[in-house]
Amino acid sequence: MMQLIDPFGRAVTYLRVSVTDRCDFRCVYCMSENMTFLPKAEILSLEELERVAGAFVRLGVRKLRLTGGEPLVRRNIMSLFRGLSRLLESGDLDELTLTTNGSQLDRFAPELADLGVKRVNVSLDTLDPDKFAAITRWGKIDKVMAGLAAAKAAGLGVKINTVALKGVNDGEFDDLVAWAGAEGFDLTFIEVMPLGEIGEGARLDQYMPLSMVRARIQERWTLEEIDYRTGGPARYVRVKETGGRIGFITPMTHNFCEGCNRVRLTCTGTLYMCLGQEDAADLRTPVRASESDAALEAAIHEAIARKPKGHDFIIDRNHNLPAVGRHMSVTGG
Ligand code: SAM
Ligand code: SF4
Repeated sequence: MMQLIDPFGRAVTYLRVSVTDRCDFRCVYCMSENMTFLPKAEILSLEELERVAGAFVRLGVRKLRLTGGEPLVRRNIMSLFRGLSRLLESGDLDELTLTTNGSQLDRFAPELADLGVKRVNVSLDTLDPDKFAAITRWGKIDKVMAGLAAAKAAGLGVKINTVALKGVNDGEFDDLVAWAGAEGFDLTFIEVMPLGEIGEGARLDQYMPLSMVRARIQERWTLEEIDYRTGGPARYVRVKETGGRIGFITPMTHNFCEGCNRVRLTCTGTLYMCLGQEDAADLRTPVRASESDAALEAAIHEAIARKPKGHDFIIDRNHNLPAVGRHMSVTGG
């Protein structure tokens, strides 16, 4: 079996693919209100994305996650899911999944389930319609709730991703835990990361360490340590009262790079070997240079050979500049 091994002995088995930089929301921690999106010529076609993903799978990747921007707003995105689902059928791929804001899930959940998608990550920071509108600027919570119901009805496992935002949703953690437990959804809290310019002062105001989130939750719920892992950086606990799982992803306060198994491809064919570093490899040129995948595979090997050991996020307290200039919507988190 082929394997992609980086210089620190870590096998790269997980590829996240941002299929578009566009989105139907403008979440305050992710995008500015007026985003300039990429011209079409720079964006890989769905066929090109399938070729690149296919090359990674041939070289040893076992798990694919489509993300964005909002993956479900890309035109004809189901044709990419359809193509990739063949790799599930052939046994070359263990898991095909996506991270979505849920706005289009009511439409697509049944087809995703048919294509072999088993779980979806849905981002939702609040249960309050007004706060939801304020955080996402353009989103409607009812649409997301309809999407979640459709996902559940289609038999998809759901994990809710919640960014902990000081002064915004920090009074609601209990409600989120109760709601997710009742719905049978896993719930993962994420710290705000310093990615992309989003506006003066915003980031430091929003940042809240997950140790505080956990302390708040523990005031009302009994949290039991479990060793459940999904291959990602989240640490999970079980809520005794609901039986539900809660995960914590702490890029700012805890370094989880040792077990990193992933790389990220943007919709322009740029491969980031680490979410917190600027170094990247261009895979679009080799894809477009020839119909054979030889140059593409060579470029992938070369990129993995430079995967860095880890990242060092800091929110610069003097200048409040992002640690990395690109927005989260570029690499999809
Ligand atoms: N649009 C989809 C969604 O919202 O789920 C997929 C892409 S979105 C960039 C992926 C995840 O990144 C979401 O859960 C979002 O909350 C999170 N995110 C965006 N900007 C972030 C930031 N600056 N810090 C931490 N998480 C962020
Ligand atoms: Fe869109 Fe997701 Fe970013 Fe929100 S977090 S603006 S839904 S890409």
